Amino acid sequence: QADLALYDAKAAGRNTLCFYNIEMQYALEIRAVIQSALYHAQELNELQIYAQPQVDRDGHLVGAELLLRWQHPMVGWISPSQFIPLAEETGTILPIGQWVLRSACQTLARWARQPQYAALTLSINVSIRQFRHAGFVDEVRTILAETGAPPARLKLELTESIVIDNVDDTVRKMNQLRQMGIRFSMDDFGTGYSSLSYLKKLPLDQIKIDQSFIRDMTCDADDAAIVTAILSISRSLSLQVVAEGVETEAQQQFLYEHGCELYQGFLYGRPMPLAELEHFHQHVR
Ligand code: C2E
Ligand code: MG
Ligand code: MG
Ligand code: MG
Repeated sequence: QADLALYDAKAAGRNTLCFYNIEMQYALEIRAVIQSALYHAQELNELQIYAQPQVDRDGHLVGAELLLRWQHPMVGWISPSQFIPLAEETGTILPIGQWVLRSACQTLARWARQPQYAALTLSINVSIRQFRHAGFVDEVRTILAETGAPPARLKLELTESIVIDNVDDTVRKMNQLRQMGIRFSMDDFGTGYSSLSYLKKLPLDQIKIDQSFIRDMTCDADDAAIVTAILSISRSLSLQVVAEGVETEAQQQFLYEHGCELYQGFLYGRPMPLAELEHFHQHVR
């Protein structure tokens, strides 16, 4: 499988001599094919929304993060970390992102009528182009009204790239959405350039410790120090913390001992269809 990022034509063209070769030409063609396939993927029902459980300190399900899956009939499974950047470039992320948002709200509205699901939250990933879009706040307002979803159960995950792009616009939009009752989570926390300064500037409810810190935490003293520092600072700032990518009992134990509130990772469940998540819920309780 070609590494799409490696052959990014724009990146190669800007500052470096462009070594044109047949392999590169081939990769660019694959990229173009995938870009146009992505344009139709949603109509063809090739895109699916999976949900990964999030649990509390007692192991009880508290909610889920929605994650896109693309099963192309010829290419097979394509990872969101490959196709989301392409969807951003072409603008296809706008209808796709809107579809994910609408699905989340439809599910939350349905859950609100069922006592065993009513307290669960859903987190969705918002891309930079989607968030920057002038109509984003109105779009959310409309979808909430149409579906009747309880806004307090919806979390929007932002990344630092969104914030860096335009801090003022980000804060303004976050405040407008917060007035509707929506919550915000900072995704991949700790991987950016100025993560700490954003804790002060942004009206956040939650941060997600990036899985790269969790991975080696139990054998790497530096990662352990970073994780405990993030847990401690978020406690002082009254921010909820989610640990991402928890795979082992040892990682869970370490996080638990240092006061981590919420947990997400393969140890509890892989991303799964929503129907399975509802089953998971019944199972845990
Ligand atoms: P993310 O938001 O940081 O999502 C977490 C990623 O970690 C997911 O990868 C998830 O499957 C993976 N993961 C969860 N638990 C574990 C674990 O225990 N071990 C390991 N190794 N990995 C784990 P996935 O589904 O491939 O998504 C990758 C990225 O694509 C996401 O990172 C997010 O940035 C983006 N993405 C996915 N769905 C959407 C979407 O609907 N909209 C937008 N804009 N971006 C999306
Ligand atoms: Mg996320
Ligand atoms: Mg993340
Ligand atoms: Mg990530």
